[in-house]
Formats: sequence, structure tokens, C-alpha cells
Amino acid sequence: MARFGRRDTAPELALRRELHRRGRRFFVDRPVSRRCRVRPDLVFPRARIAVFVDGCFWHWCEEHAHLPKANAELWRQKLLANRQRDAANEAVLVGEGWQVLRFWEHEDSSVAADRVEGALRRWASISGRR
Ligand SMILES: [Zn+2]
Repeated sequence: MARFGRRDTAPELALRRELHRRGRRFFVDRPVSRRCRVRPDLVFPRARIAVFVDGCFWHWCEEHAHLPKANAELWRQKLLANRQRDAANEAVLVGEGWQVLRFWEHEDSSVAADRVEGALRRWASISGRR
């Protein structure tokens, strides 16, 4: 499974809307590495910032994770594998010079947007770009 769950989830859309409102432009759901098939939810190619909005169930958020009653052990292994894949993909991207920002779907979209903007501003001040 290249991607867990659905595309364009409500929390992703909320973050995209908030960043658009602030005048930010980015790519959506785009592959960024030849070494892994991961497609960050938001991509800022020049700043090399990759943003993920992780679903609480599929990515095992500590607050909201739960195992379905049926086949609990299979689900546990599957969700654990998802987390390990997240970590492995992130390591590949970081190794290729990407800054990876991860948010949970339960996080407030304007707080998430603040963090993305902070990272973009730091990059702009270092690179001399706007
Ligand atoms: Zn959660």
C-alpha cells in the first residue's frame, strides 16, 4: 500500500486551505524520492520541505489508536509495520536533504500551518529567498 487510507482527508484539506489562505503554494501528494515511493501530502520543492498529515488510526497515534476487535493481532502487526515504514521513509527523505514535518490528523490546522510557515521562513532567511 503506497498510501494509507484515503486521499484528501478533511485534516489535509484544512491544512491546505489554511496555507493557501496565507499565500503559500505547494504540490500535493507528489513523489519526491527515487529511493522510496512515499508521497508527502504537501511538498515545497525549493525549500525541500515535505509535510505529512498522518491519520490517527493508520499511523497509530498514541492518543487515538485502537485495535479493531476482530483480528486484533493482525491489525497490531499491520499498524506497527505502517509506523516502521513511516520511519524508514522519513529517514530516506532526511538523508536526501528534506526537512520532514509530520502532523496528526487530530492537530489543529492553524497550529500546523504555523509550524510549516516557521520552517519556510527559516529556509527563506537562510537561502535569501522569499
Ligand atoms: Zn490522534
